[in-house]
Amino acid sequence: MQADGFREQGLRSQLVAELVKKGITDQGVLAAIGKIPRHFFIDSAFLDFAYADKAFPIGAGQTISQPFTVAFQTQLLAIKKFDKVLEIGTGSGYQTAVLLEMGAKVYTIERQRELYQKVQQMLPLMGYHPNFFYGDGFEGKPTYGPFDKILVTAGAPSIPEKLLLQLKIGGVMVIPVGEVHQRMFRIVRTSESDFTKEDFGDFMFVPMLEGVNRS
Ligand code: SAH
Repeated sequence: MQADGFREQGLRSQLVAELVKKGITDQGVLAAIGKIPRHFFIDSAFLDFAYADKAFPIGAGQTISQPFTVAFQTQLLAIKKFDKVLEIGTGSGYQTAVLLEMGAKVYTIERQRELYQKVQQMLPLMGYHPNFFYGDGFEGKPTYGPFDKILVTAGAPSIPEKLLLQLKIGGVMVIPVGEVHQRMFRIVRTSESDFTKEDFGDFMFVPMLEGVNRS
């Protein structure tokens, strides 16, 4: 594992300051981002990129989400300690680490086998222990639900009904919806059959795809 010294901590403090400027106020989110060595999640040759507020390639044609996007989605979820959270799109595992750092119990699904295998080795070495699943996030994890929160980190073509039904009453889902660009929606399940939907603007994600990729 790489080093995490004063230089990295300094870069992280700058990133946190930048996120505050961009409107992130959730202290739990900011503390998690201030603590987690994001450079462990990307290739070691790119230290400066690790703490720029930018998305970055992580292999298998996927990206680690931009820190602002991670912070914004997590803030919309209003994560509390012991929340049971379903995450779709484990990717690098950075967002997973943020949720765990905030005290959530995390169930995370990835459809790319290569990423699923890599993250399963790496996160536990850093002390993070989500429940990892290889599969299609459109299906969710009904046997482990219902969930307090559901977080989708890939651009969905529409809001998957199966995921809505895995929310507790009072539960919250944050999901980017759209083909090329996405609108960020926060959905709250207000009763067995009722949901509210709010729009939080334009974002860009890699697409949420059906099925699994075994390569
Ligand atoms: N949260 C990640 C973001 C990774 S990008 C991070 O912080 O690094 C989105 C991820 O969603 C990709 O790894 C992609 O393979 C995965 N993905 C796309 N469609 C999916 C699906 N149907 N089920 C599970 N994962 C999916």
